[in-house]
Amino acid sequence: MRRLGVLGWPVAHSRSPAMQAAAFAALGLDDLRYQRLPVPPALFAETVRALPGAGFVGANVTVPHKEAALALADEATGAARAIGAANTLTFDPERGILADNTDAPGLVDALADLGEPPAGRTALVLGAGGSARAAAWALREAGADVAVWNRTAERAARLAAELGVRAIDAPAPADLVVNCTTVGLHDAAATPIGPAALDGHRVVVDLVYRDGGTALVNAARDRGLATVDGLEILVRQGARSLAIWTGRAIDAAVLDAMRAAVRRPG
Ligand code: NAP
Repeated sequence: MRRLGVLGWPVAHSRSPAMQAAAFAALGLDDLRYQRLPVPPALFAETVRALPGAGFVGANVTVPHKEAALALADEATGAARAIGAANTLTFDPERGILADNTDAPGLVDALADLGEPPAGRTALVLGAGGSARAAAWALREAGADVAVWNRTAERAARLAAELGVRAIDAPAPADLVVNCTTVGLHDAAATPIGPAALDGHRVVVDLVYRDGGTALVNAARDRGLATVDGLEILVRQGARSLAIWTGRAIDAAVLDAMRAAVRRPG
């Protein structure tokens, strides 16, 4: 049996095990198992190094370990290095621990599916934490003109300087807005920008997800805007990770199985 998992602290809420199990079933991969791996920061490096010996071929990495995952890797992709964080580790018998970041291409995949590829568009990234770095890098790489706004302006300025995008003092209309703040996670009614400000946008992406939809996504839908919610982003990054581990193409039927699993948490 080949083992995979998601490293986080806490990680009990993760929908990745159900999502990946649905993908394994759809692909006929009977020898793969995917589990939660709750690991406190102090034990992260030693735990990861022990995983290959316990039958693990790879792992996803979530809060708060994404920077640490990159730091301990033997090799990392250009995307992971530029973003400064890894969400996907692969354990290779010869090369060691390989790090990648699938949050970035997962976002671009979701936009392409919507018929809204970022090339030539203006994009507003809200936030300056780990997911904002991935989103800003991905959108810039995909050819968008990217502006970043953050509550703490110095963090946005630093991100912008490091990733070659623009920091702005106040949210401004753009073709595409991506919420990479935690607003909406704990307070169901909260939105990172006022619903009226959405009128200047065309596509709204919210990395935050909750059953019934976030207030931001619901307000955008009410206004007739195109939307991508955080569960679709979760599916697309997970599909990219699975493709890396298995070498298999993740087709529309597998994506649908993954979507059904995350939208029906069990
Ligand atoms: P993070 O590194 O902790 O960054 C949090 C960001 O939220 C910071 O920019 C922070 O601004 C901002 N923020 C927090 N409270 C705020 C408030 N009240 N008003 C305005 N801004 C506020 O978090 P992260 O890892 O980037 O994750 C961000 C969100 O994306 C989380 O909810 C996470 O669950 C979600 N996410 C989802 C997926 C997915 O697959 N769907 C993947 C990754 C992340 P300051 O700098 O001013 O503190």
